[in-house]
Amino acid sequence: MMDYSSGEQILESLGVTPIINAAGPVTRFSGTRPRPEAMQAMMAMVDPFVELPELIDAAGKRIAEIIGVPAATITSGASGGLTVQTAAAMAKDDPEKIFQLPISDDVPNELIIQRNHRFGYDHLYLTPGARFVEVGTADGCSPEKVEDAITDKTAAIIHLESPYSGDNVLPIETLVEIAHRNGVPLMCDAASRLPPRKNLTKFVEAGSDLVSFSGGKGIRGPQATGLLLGSEEWIEYAKLNNAPNATVARAQKVSKESIAGILAAVEMFVNEDEDEENRRYTRLMQSVVDQVIEIPGVHAEVVHDYNHYIPHAVLRLNDSWRGPPKSVIGERMLEGPDRVVILTFLEEVADFWVDPLNLSDEEVQQVTDKLRRVLLDASNEG
Ligand SMILES: *Cc1c(COP(=O)(O)O)cnc(C)c1O
Repeated sequence: MMDYSSGEQILESLGVTPIINAAGPVTRFSGTRPRPEAMQAMMAMVDPFVELPELIDAAGKRIAEIIGVPAATITSGASGGLTVQTAAAMAKDDPEKIFQLPISDDVPNELIIQRNHRFGYDHLYLTPGARFVEVGTADGCSPEKVEDAITDKTAAIIHLESPYSGDNVLPIETLVEIAHRNGVPLMCDAASRLPPRKNLTKFVEAGSDLVSFSGGKGIRGPQATGLLLGSEEWIEYAKLNNAPNATVARAQKVSKESIAGILAAVEMFVNEDEDEENRRYTRLMQSVVDQVIEIPGVHAEVVHDYNHYIPHAVLRLNDSWRGPPKSVIGERMLEGPDRVVILTFLEEVADFWVDPLNLSDEEVQQVTDKLRRVLLDASNEG
C-alpha cells in the first residue's frame, strides 16, 4: 500500500514533481486549491444516499437564493455548462429531442456567434450536434449582421465574457434584445469572470437566459464543477438535458459530494469581503514588483482591471532588456526542483504575470525569489 498521508507523499511515490502555481486557475496546472469548507462538505456527503435529481434541485435552489438570481443548477465545469446550454436550446423539454441529440437533423441546430467571440473551448457548444454560424469579422460586427443570420434553424445566440475578445464586439444587451425579439435564447459563457462577485448576477440581469461559470476558478469549489444561472424556465430545460439523465451530457455527471462542495464554496465566496481580499492581493503583488523593478529592462506594476480579475504583478520586458524573450523566462521558472509556473503563454499579450489566487504568503516569497534570480541571470546574458 502506498503512503496516502499527504499530497507530497502521494506525488513522491508516483515520481511526480509538484509545482507552485502562480498562473492562477488554469486547469492544466490543477486549477485552484478547493476551499477547506468545500472539501469538508464533500467528506460529509460520503455517508448519505439520495435521489440525485432531488439533491440537484434543492442545491440549485439554495445557490440561486445565496447569489440572488431566479434559478441555478450545477454542471461538471463551465465547459460542461456550454454543452448543456446548447442541448437545452435545441431540445428544451421535449423528451424525444433530448434523447436523440447529438442527432439534430430535424432540430434547430445553429448557433450564431460573432467572429471575435470564437475561442479555444467553443467547440464544446457543438457537442449536442450544433454548428456555428459565424458573423462579423475581426474588425467587429453590426447588430444587423446578427439579426440577418437568424433563421428557423437558429437554436441560440452565443455571448462570451472574456478579457481577450477585445472591444470590437456587440454588448450583451444588444444581443439579448435581438435574441428575444426573434424568440431565441442568449447563452453566455462567463467561466472566468469571478471575482468581481457582482458578475454573479450581472449577466443574468442583462437578460442572458443561461450563464455558465466555473466552480473551480475564482469560487474555489471542487475542480470539476460549474454553475449555470438564469431564469426558472431555462434552468429547468438545462436540468432536463443534463446528467444524471441519459442525455448528451450524461458523461458530465457530478457526484453528490461535489454538489455539497460547490454549494459550500459558493456560500463562502459570496460572504467574503472583496475589498479586504483585494488589499491582501495588492500587498502581496506589490512585494513581487518591489523586488524585480530595478532589474535592467524589466517593467513591473500591480494591475487590477477587467483583464486581471484580482490584483496581479504584471511584468514586461522593455526596450533596454538584453536577455531572452518571456517564453524562455517562463521555461526557466519551471526548471529545477522548485518548479514555478507563471503566466507567459498568452502570445497575443506582451506582458507576463504572477497571479496570487493559489499562493500562500510563503509561496509568494518563493515565487519572488526565483523570479528575481531568473530575471537577474537572464539580464546579464546579453
Ligand atoms: C476556463 C474557461 C472555460 C472552462 O471552464 P471549466 O470550468 O474549466 O470547464 C470555458 N470558457 C472560458 C471562457 C474559460 O475561461
